Amino acid sequence: MLRWMKLKEIAEKITKEKVDIHISTQLDKNIRGVCTRNLQTNGIEILLNAKYAKKEEDVIETLAHELAHLKVKGHGNEFQKEMDRIKKEIEKELKDDGANK
Ligand SMILES: [Zn+2]
Repeated sequence: MLRWMKLKEIAEKITKEKVDIHISTQLDKNIRGVCTRNLQTNGIEILLNAKYAKKEEDVIETLAHELAHLKVKGHGNEFQKEMDRIKKEIEKELKDDGANK
């Protein structure tokens, strides 16, 4: 069972912004996710490809990737570092959440 609300909460904690997660069946198979800013609400909108949003670890990977792009463009070393940092933070928060239940 994917903890969507918890993932949203964690994404908001990490970015300190309002984050909404959407799942789409319409994205091209080569796209795992898209991250945009909603200019009306100023919140962050993350669109995930339903094809790659089946397991929690897939979603963590894509979320970390998209959130890292808010700070770093491209996929260089700095990006990888930022993505790893975010991924670890998401995993830690989910682990803590699991321990509380
Ligand atoms: Zn990317």
